[in-house]
Amino acid sequence: MSTALVWLRRDLRLHDQPALAAAAQRANRLVPLYIHAPEEATPAEGAASRWWLHHSLAALAEALATAGSRLCLDSGATAERLRHWAQVSEADTVYCTTVAEPWARRQEAAVRAALAEAGVALEILPDGLLTDPSAIRNRSGTPYRAFTPFWRSVRPQIDPPRPAPAPALPPLPDAIPEPQPPEALGLLPRIRWDSKLEMHWRPGEPAARERLARFIDGGLADYTGQRDRPARDGTSRLSPRLHFGEVSVRAVWHAAADARAAQPAAEASVDAFLGELGWREFGYHLLWQDPELDRRPFDRRFEAFPWREDPDGALLGAWRRGETGIPLVDAGMRELWATGWMHNRVRMVVGSFLVKNLRLPWQHGEAHFRDTLVDWDLASNSMGWQWVSGCGADAAPYFRIFNPVRQGERFDPDGDYVRQWVPEVAGLPKSHIHQPWKAPADARARSGLHLGRSYPEPLVDLGTSRQEALAAFQALG
Ligand SMILES: Cc1cc2nc3c(=O)[nH]c(=O)nc-3n(C[C@H](O)[C@H](O)[C@H](O)COP(=O)(O)OP(=O)(O)OC[C@H]3O[C@@H](n4cnc5c(N)ncnc54)[C@H](O)[C@@H]3O)c2cc1C
Repeated sequence: MSTALVWLRRDLRLHDQPALAAAAQRANRLVPLYIHAPEEATPAEGAASRWWLHHSLAALAEALATAGSRLCLDSGATAERLRHWAQVSEADTVYCTTVAEPWARRQEAAVRAALAEAGVALEILPDGLLTDPSAIRNRSGTPYRAFTPFWRSVRPQIDPPRPAPAPALPPLPDAIPEPQPPEALGLLPRIRWDSKLEMHWRPGEPAARERLARFIDGGLADYTGQRDRPARDGTSRLSPRLHFGEVSVRAVWHAAADARAAQPAAEASVDAFLGELGWREFGYHLLWQDPELDRRPFDRRFEAFPWREDPDGALLGAWRRGETGIPLVDAGMRELWATGWMHNRVRMVVGSFLVKNLRLPWQHGEAHFRDTLVDWDLASNSMGWQWVSGCGADAAPYFRIFNPVRQGERFDPDGDYVRQWVPEVAGLPKSHIHQPWKAPADARARSGLHLGRSYPEPLVDLGTSRQEALAAFQALG
């Protein structure tokens, strides 16, 4: 009789789960175990991520119970707790999947040492990504610093195995204590602000699989036409599900590639979607090159950038609350606060506004997103912020400063997105909705808008702040 322990990490699912599959095949007793160790992951996940994790674990517990197994939960130092569980369950092997973040390498080394002392084997199986971020090199043998050559070289090599079904799970050994509920991990906020997230999301594998199927059947064919329109449901919204591994990236890849075979007309859309999965891979390749990607500019020249002083935090506070007086920026920040998610186009706009128009350090934006996004991901968030700031690899050049008015007119032409999130300006005609300060007084009066009272005047003048940013960037040389 052999017992296996499956150490669950960012792979909270039953289908196409390599650690569960290997353990189920080789052992006749199996313990699925999740260990909450917030002090080991650096930086620690934020409140919205913890909310998602709680509900994702609850969904996994339900699925495991239906499959005749049981989710075991624990918290504490991972290496020590794993050794304890291996001893209690008399497991000879611990199976887990990879997490491609710098702190996870340290965690795995500690786990390996602790298990070896106890005579328990550790098997780490690749998962979470389509590539190995540490193994990719260009022709000169160095890592890639730009997305286009990275993707051109990597994409033809991506040929993941087809997703495996959920395995039949062996029972738990007899000696396992009664399970704790996910509440015992203390992931939910003490002040219950999170009920609003429940209106927008259903974490867990079953919902992830449904969302993938719905996107493949509905949204994918016109992804290129819809993906930049924040008012539409034009993207997959799979990001939190990919982050927590509720659906495997291999399953997403194959679902999209199969859709191309079935509908050749959708080829451009499928390629664009697969390219976004490619950006996700690229983020991990960058994080592997620079473990400080969330803190230090990839281009170190930017460490000398003259950021604006904001001693009382008034500018940052207005940005966070969505009270900058720039409707598209405010709409994005309020969407984030209300739903834990923000449309990609708007992430770029609010990021550019913070870093270039307000000239506040990008690390403030990175930290706020980390706390509020349900899809917060160390690699993607760090890369995204460095990209909008112009200091990352392959970043938008510093002189490309998003104009939030032009972006609104182009990607939210009827103002539907702004109307949804900024009701103070909803009564303005679409010709003025993206710059209410330019609306004639009678149009403002008719729509009930009182600038400076019902809705703020712009926090900064877009033209002047743009010039100041350009001058500051140019001074860097
Ligand atoms: C400043 C900034 C911060 C960001 N922070 C995060 C973050 O913390 N977590 C996160 O998952 N994404 C982040 N992104 C990338 C992107 O905005 C989200 O992945 C996307 O909006 C998620 O929505 P979706 O699942 O509907 O995307 P889709 O358009 O349906 O794309 C499919 C998948 O591809 C991946 N993807 C798409 N765009 C990107 C991208 N630009 N970079 C990396 N992966 C991408 C995601 O996994 C996404 O789920 C950030 C972008 C910016 C500009």
